[in-house]
Amino acid sequence: MTIGILGGGQLGRMIALAGYPLGQRFVFLDPGSESCAGHVGDLRVGAYDDEERLAEISRRADVITYEFENVPVASARYLAERAKVYPPPGALEVSQDRLAEKTFFERAGIPTPAFAAADSEADVLRAIEKVGLPAVVKTRRFGYDGKGQTVIRSEEDARAAFAALGAAPLVVEAFVAFDAEASVIAVRGTSGEARCYPMTENEHAGGILRVSRPSGPSITPAIQAAGEALAARVLTELDYVGVLAIELFVQGGRLLVNEMAPRVHNSGHWTIEGAETSQFENHVRAITGMPLGSTRAIGRSAMVNVIGKMPPRDRLLAIEGVHLHSYGKDGAPGRKIGHVTVRAETAAELDDKLARVRAIVDGV
Ligand code: AMP
Repeated sequence: MTIGILGGGQLGRMIALAGYPLGQRFVFLDPGSESCAGHVGDLRVGAYDDEERLAEISRRADVITYEFENVPVASARYLAERAKVYPPPGALEVSQDRLAEKTFFERAGIPTPAFAAADSEADVLRAIEKVGLPAVVKTRRFGYDGKGQTVIRSEEDARAAFAALGAAPLVVEAFVAFDAEASVIAVRGTSGEARCYPMTENEHAGGILRVSRPSGPSITPAIQAAGEALAARVLTELDYVGVLAIELFVQGGRLLVNEMAPRVHNSGHWTIEGAETSQFENHVRAITGMPLGSTRAIGRSAMVNVIGKMPPRDRLLAIEGVHLHSYGKDGAPGRKIGHVTVRAETAAELDDKLARVRAIVDGV
């Protein structure tokens, strides 16, 4: 089969690398001619709303997916009239707008922080009466890695936040004093069969994911069970096919959903070496109608992102159980250019290796 992927970044690249052993071929669409998926597959360069390019992808591909959630929904629907598109465009649509997403979670009975829409300064002030202070003001669309959002602690902050972000529709949500951030990566096949990976505990800095630890300290059996239950509800409600990521806050032994991504996710990169079947392979299996693979963890692992600049490769690789993934991208401040997976047999060994890897990665 040929799989068309909208987006030609590292996620598309890793989907292709997992799909080749299963006999799949790949064609990517991305506006950037330097996109790193182009190193491993046929990259067509064009805008996501370029009908000629979309038509070409739909002719060439047996199934189409995305590695980037800000693809225009109209493009996904245009493709869905001509080819199979997974995950369904409806899931893309919900996840592109924080208000639609939170409203969906609320209707599905999935706990989220209290929220309110805001299109004016007066709305923001009204919203903080509902959700309380501190609160977080976010743009409804196109926010990522902490961009397009600010924490407010007073009415004065609320006015300043509206002045800074209010050119776009906003959502105001309660600030969660979380114990930890976590995510659940789930996958659902065309037959409706679904599975979840062990949840990860995630550490962010400057709004960017730094470290993910599958079954990390905050992931108790009860939290894992709660994460799996809510993921199952989301998958069914959206009639989802493919890999889905849900980001959560852990607070006082319960989960609150922050957001979801209708795609493979950075907090699932550990699955390449750390799970029986990687999230990338399971995404390919799901969208091509193959049986899903086991999501069981193999030993213990953790993932460290490489951001900005590549650390000394050989120092990392000299540590046993360390796997480096370089995405073939140029370094730039705040840019994800690779990741490192650390594998170990015991918790103490993992802690030791993780500390060594972090010292090397942070040292650049
Ligand atoms: P997001 O773009 O929604 O993923 O937010 C980026 C980061 O901001 C999250 O990973 C959290 O660390 C933080 N954050 C977002 N929303 C909230 C909230 N309601 N309460 C506390 N922290 C938040």
